[in-house]
Amino acid sequence: MQNTHSSQLVQRSLQSVWHPCTQMQHHETVPLVAVKRGQGVWLYDGDNRRYLDAVSSWWVNLFGHANPRINAALKDQLDTLEHAMLAGFTHEPVVALSEKLSALTEGVLGHCFYASDGASAVEIALKMSFHSWRNLGLPAKQEFVCLKGGYHGETIGALAVTDVAIFRDAYDALLKPTHCLMSPDARLALDGETDDDQARRAAHELELLLQERADHISAVIVEPLVQCASGMAMHSALYLQLVRQLCDQYKVHMIADEIAVGCGRTGTFFACEQAHIWPDFVCLSKGISGGYLPLSLVMTRDSIYQTFYSDSVARGFLHSHSYTGNPLACRAALATLAIFEEDDVLAQNQVRAQRMTAALEPLRQHSHVKNFRQQGMIWAFDAQVADAAKAATFSRRFFATALEHELLIRPIGRTVYLMPPYILSNDEIDLLATRLHTVFEKVVHA
Ligand SMILES: *Cc1c(COP(=O)(O)O)cnc(C)c1O
Repeated sequence: MQNTHSSQLVQRSLQSVWHPCTQMQHHETVPLVAVKRGQGVWLYDGDNRRYLDAVSSWWVNLFGHANPRINAALKDQLDTLEHAMLAGFTHEPVVALSEKLSALTEGVLGHCFYASDGASAVEIALKMSFHSWRNLGLPAKQEFVCLKGGYHGETIGALAVTDVAIFRDAYDALLKPTHCLMSPDARLALDGETDDDQARRAAHELELLLQERADHISAVIVEPLVQCASGMAMHSALYLQLVRQLCDQYKVHMIADEIAVGCGRTGTFFACEQAHIWPDFVCLSKGISGGYLPLSLVMTRDSIYQTFYSDSVARGFLHSHSYTGNPLACRAALATLAIFEEDDVLAQNQVRAQRMTAALEPLRQHSHVKNFRQQGMIWAFDAQVADAAKAATFSRRFFATALEHELLIRPIGRTVYLMPPYILSNDEIDLLATRLHTVFEKVVHA
């Protein structure tokens, strides 16, 4: 049981805070945890109970809570410049971050545009793509292509290119129609087919559409390698190569939403690197600030940037957010990128991932585990639950049972996944794998 202070805080929260992605009534039975502090992979509540943050607090926290290096950078920045508007002004953190990110694309994506959350980055990419064609005298290119099971955020424009029923259905009447095509999800491969076969079939659907409608299509938006929010659907890198070729051939932009899969999550810094391609737009958010501050950005090619460069105000990209390029957030991002370099994180994560996969081997063999899959620092599997009523409450029961075993894990439907911070020690890996197994057993047999 939580102590008086914790349970009072929970009560006050339920009276005053409308929690995200939550049917508030469920908190009559599902616990709400009053977090007091964080340290490394652990979150602590008011009673000093701890929870291993196995989902990086919605996929944002890369290097643990209260990371000493990010803390130090932010404290320094706080005493230097907390914020200044980015129209008409610039500052070192936003310039240094833009340069560093561009260098990570070998300079191919030369300019960065900033916002605060992922959905806004997606809105920006969609608007920029459309406006760029318009500036080129092709205003008919107004339509967007997205994928079944894709997720790009929940503002009206981003939701229009999202295909996750639970987020979308209530608002369908508000959304602009899109072309929603077959997912390359490897689980959809037919008997005897490979991941690549599924990628080819999905790309073929795109090709048929582009043959018909490329004159009206502005961009294709994809989540490279892993469609995360619909349940960690993984696909072959071949799909990204095929999309790149088709976009070149039919003069359509390719938008890579790397908000979840970027920043090393799939094994390379950008997921697209595994396909050896660069898209026309990359959206980043979530992990880029190390999980410290809201920050998102859209990187694009100089050729697209140039279509806006003119004496005319109306040809410019006039989008803005109040906190665009916030110096504190950019400084957190610079500290995060510095850790990647100093600690050789991508190489270290390979070792970490191997150990994690090995530790999960007994669970992979479990008779109720289907489609065990892994990409970089993401692990997922689908739980087989025959009873429909039990299946419907699986996620909530799992979350509650995991908390009892000191784990923060929130399955998506019956897909259980891990997206831990990149600092898990060997002991923490073993603890996570063992406890996950125990929790899974309890929940599937309950
Ligand atoms: C989380 C996410 C978004 C939206 O980001 P928010 O900051 O939640 O608005 C967009 N695309 C992908 C792939 C995401 O995972």
